[in-house]
Formats: sequence, structure tokens, C-alpha cells
Amino acid sequence: MEKLIELQDIKKYFVVPNGLLHAVDGINLSIEKGETLGIVGESGCGKSTLLYLLAGLDKADRGTVSTGGRDGKTGNISFILQDYGLFPWKTVAENLSLPLELRGEGRTRRREAVAAMLDELGLTGLGPRYPVQLSGGQRQRVAIGRALITDPDILLMDEPFSSLDALTREHLQRTVLSLWRRRRPTCVLVTHNVPEAVFLGRRVMVLSGRPARKTLWLDNPRFGEEGAAFEETRRVYEALSETKDCL
Ligand code: ADP
Repeated sequence: MEKLIELQDIKKYFVVPNGLLHAVDGINLSIEKGETLGIVGESGCGKSTLLYLLAGLDKADRGTVSTGGRDGKTGNISFILQDYGLFPWKTVAENLSLPLELRGEGRTRRREAVAAMLDELGLTGLGPRYPVQLSGGQRQRVAIGRALITDPDILLMDEPFSSLDALTREHLQRTVLSLWRRRRPTCVLVTHNVPEAVFLGRRVMVLSGRPARKTLWLDNPRFGEEGAAFEETRRVYEALSETKDCL
């Protein structure tokens, strides 16, 4: 298998009023092309910092970050955040179309891709609405669609469902899984929600410590099967038992 993401011995600190705050300290991570990884760990252990480093939105103070395949090309990266990040003055269709427009795609191709994505997301007919006219779940669906419409090589998700109710959350987990099955981006999901990490992660990385120094990797070949992963979920809870305050 081809590795698409590799972090080696990453250190990241922030300058804070009383000195340096180590957010990530010596983390190693590697992900195969097309794989899904769930990352869980207590609050403040450095999960979001890791994602920002992966996205190239921040720089590590030590270590190397690589997000390229065998051909040496850096993969295209999309990022989904907790709070949707849609432009309120643009319609749903315009929000979905934006990444294609930025890439210089023509009008016809954009219109076709947006219509196909609306169908794929179960939002057929909602293209002319504005984000404020949608439910929270529908807005996050649009955010997921916008992230995937360019068929990125890498999809990063930082607590993408945490502001949604439990049923909507489960629905969207299935939406992400089915989009992943069709498009196969390499996915990294940061979440506090253990069943979610186990449902979506082909592997699960459990971080402990603040900053995290210890990492435990769980292989999870039955990810995506409804109710199949009780044993894996229990193992993640066990691994987190020293840091229960995050759950
Ligand atoms: P997690 O996502 O696991 O909750 P974060 O990666 O957000 O953790 O944060 C790790 C640590 O780094 C926390 O102590 C947090 O307060 C700190 N931190 C994150 N971003 C900054 C920043 N821009 N400036 C200072 N400290 C930060």
C-alpha cells in the first residue's frame, strides 16, 4: 500500500504569557492512501493542532509532515470544521460550486457537479436556499459536500458532528461513510466520540497525556458495519480510561 500522510517526531509549541506551551510532543503517524483514521483523546492533548499541521495551516517546530504520494505531488486537502463554515450570503448551490469556481471549472461542469452532489447528499431541490434556511444537519451536509466536490485526496475533519443532535449525527456519519466508499479520499477524523471514531476509522489512534506522548493504535477492519464494533469500542474506552474526563 502507498503511504499518503506521514508525520515524523512532530513537536509543536505555542508561546503563551508564562512561557512555552507544548501542544504536540513527539507524535508519529502514517496513513495509507484511501484509508480512514479516527483520532480520539482527551481535550487539550493536541488533536486539532495535529490536523492543522496536516492541513499545512500551521508549521511544526520539529519533525516532518508529508502529505504526498509516490509521485511526489502534495495531495489536495479539504477540511471540515465543527461550525459548517458556509458563506451565509451565498445559496447552497453557490456554496457547493465555490471550490470548483476557484479551480477554474466552467459553468456547465459546475452546474452538473452541484446537481449530482445535491442528489448524493439527499438535498435535491435545496440549491436555491440560503444556509440560514436549513437545519444544522442540512448545513453540515452542505459543508461535507463542499469539501468533497473537488474529489480531494485528503479529507480532514475536526469534530464535524459535535454540534448536532445524536440522530442527525448518526445520519451524517453514514453520509460520510457512503461518500468515502464512492470517492475514497484518505480521511482523518478527530472526535471526542468513541463510537464515531470506531464507526468511521479503519484504524483508531488513541492519544493520552497533555500534550499526548503515548499513542495506541487499534486496527478496526469492521469499521462502517452497523453495531459490529462493540469490542473495538470497548478497547478504545479502556485505552482512554486514564483520561476519562474527555468523554
Ligand atoms: P485538542 O484538539 O486535543 O483539544 P488542541 O490541539 O486544540 O487540543 O490544543 C492543544 C493545546 O495547545 C491546548 O493546551 C491548547 O490550549 C493549546 N493551543 C492550541 N492552539 C493554541 C494557540 N493558537 N495558542 C496557544 N495555545 C494553543
